Amino acid sequence: MTPLEIFVAGQWRLGGGEPMVSTFPADGSLNGTLHAASLEDLDDAVNGADRAWRDPAWRQMLPHQRGRILQRVADLIEQQVDDLACQQSRDNGKPLQESRGLVMSAAGTARYFASACELLEGEITTPRQPGVMTLSRYEPIGVVAAITPWNSPIASEMQKIAPAIAAGNAVIVKPAEATPLMALVLARLFEQAGLPAGLLSVLPGKGAIIGDALARHPLVRKISFTGGTRTGRYLAHVAAEKLIPASLELGGKSPTIVLDDADLDQAAHGICYGIFSSAGQACIAGSRLFVHRSCYQPLVEKLVALTRGLRLGHPLEAGTHIGPLITPEHRESVRRYVAMAREEGGEILCGGQVPTTGELARGNWFEPTIIAGLTNKARVCQEEIFGPVLVVMPFDDEQHLVAEANDSVYGLAAGIWTTRSDRALMLADQLEVGTVWINTYKQFSVSTPFGGFKESGLGREKGIQGLKAWMQQKSVYLALGNPVNRWCE
Ligand code: ADP
Repeated sequence: MTPLEIFVAGQWRLGGGEPMVSTFPADGSLNGTLHAASLEDLDDAVNGADRAWRDPAWRQMLPHQRGRILQRVADLIEQQVDDLACQQSRDNGKPLQESRGLVMSAAGTARYFASACELLEGEITTPRQPGVMTLSRYEPIGVVAAITPWNSPIASEMQKIAPAIAAGNAVIVKPAEATPLMALVLARLFEQAGLPAGLLSVLPGKGAIIGDALARHPLVRKISFTGGTRTGRYLAHVAAEKLIPASLELGGKSPTIVLDDADLDQAAHGICYGIFSSAGQACIAGSRLFVHRSCYQPLVEKLVALTRGLRLGHPLEAGTHIGPLITPEHRESVRRYVAMAREEGGEILCGGQVPTTGELARGNWFEPTIIAGLTNKARVCQEEIFGPVLVVMPFDDEQHLVAEANDSVYGLAAGIWTTRSDRALMLADQLEVGTVWINTYKQFSVSTPFGGFKESGLGREKGIQGLKAWMQQKSVYLALGNPVNRWCE
C-alpha cells in the first residue's frame, strides 16, 4: 500500500516521522498507511502558515472572498457525501448513517462561517469622549493550532478550520492518532477550493510528540483542543506559559433527568439515542440517568427493551445502530468499567459483554449496557467511560436530584424529559452544564454556542461568538479636529 502524503504548507509530501496506520475498527483491515509529521515538517508548516497569514493578498481579501472559498468547500463536500461518509466510517467505525450526518454538518459549518465572516462588524464604542472617535476592530490572531479527537473527525475538524479561516488565520490541524484520514481529505478539498497555500496544514502524529510541539511552537498563537480533560488541562498549562488563548472542549458525564410527568415513550427513545448512538463514544453522551421513582420501573423496562433491540453490526450496512469501538484497548477500558460496576454492587440489566460470535468477534464491539443499583458516588457515575454504558438511578425529590446531577467534576450537557416546559426551564437554571436539552438530546445548531462548564472545558465554539474566538480586538482612537496636546509647554 502506497503511504499517504501529509499536507505541509501547501505541499503534499511523505511525513518525516515514524510509520502510522489507519485501520477499520470493524475488522482491523488497513485503511491506509502514512508517516507521522516530523518536527521538521512541523517547523515548515508553522513557518509557511506564518508567511501565509501575513501575505497582504490574504490579509486584504474581502470577507466574501474568504467566504467563497468556504462555500466551495461545502459544495465539494455535498457532491461526495456518500463517499466521504464511507471514508469517515472506515476511519472510526461509526455507522454510515451517523457519518453521513457528520459530513453534512461539516458542509453546514463551512457555509455558516462563510456567511458569518461577512456579517462580522467592528464597533464604534460608546460613550465617545469629546473630540475622539474610538473604534474596536476584530483582527485575525495569526497561526493557530487545532488538535482534534477521533470520535467525529470531519465535523470536529471543520468546526475549527472553518471559523479559523473565516477569521483570516492560518490553521494547523493535528488529527487524532487513530483517525488521521479525514483531516487529509479535508485538506484536499480546501486546496481544490482555492485556499492559498500555507493557510492549512495537516500534521498527523502522536499527541505527546507532534501535538505537544505544535502547541509549544513560539509562532502558534492559539490552541483549540477537543479531547480528554487530562490532555486539555495539560494544554491549558502550555497556553498559560505562552500567554495565548486556549479553547478546550473536554469530557463529560452528562445527567439525563426524567420527571414524573414525562412522556415515557418519548423519553425512552431519546435517552437510548443520547447514550448509545456512536456506541457512547461522545463527550455529550447522556451516561447518568435519573428517573423519578414513580415512573422508574416502566421507564427502565421500556429502555431495556429498546436497548435489547439495537442492532450491533457492520458500520457500512444500513440499519446498524451500534458499530465497533475505536480500538481494542478502548474496548478493554469499557469492559473494565463494567466489571468495576459489578464489583461495586451494580446490577447489569442488559448487555455488559463483548460479543464473541460472527463478524462482531472480528471488531471492537461492546454490547450496549444498562446498570442499576448504584449511587451517583460509584466510579462509573463519576468517570467518563466513553462507551455504551448507562447507569440508571431513581430519585424522589428535585432538590436532592439537582445536587446529585451537579455532583460531577464535569459540566458539559444535560437532558430533561417532562411535558411541562416551565418545570424544565426552572430545572435547567439549576444545572451546572453548558447545554441543556429538553425533550430532545444531541441536537446541534452551528449558530448556537457549544462548550462546557467546570472541567468540561473553557470557551465556546460555534455561533458568531465562536468566530470572534478566533480573532483579537484592536481599539483605535482617532482624534477629531487636529487638537494639539500642549502638555509639554
Ligand atoms: P482521547 O482520550 O479522547 O483520545 P486525547 O486528549 O488523548 O483524547 O486526544 C485528543 C487529541 O489530543 C488527539 O489528537 C491527541 O493526539 C492529542 N494529544 C494527546 N496528548 C497530547 C499532548 N500532550 N499535547 C498535544 N496534543 C495531545
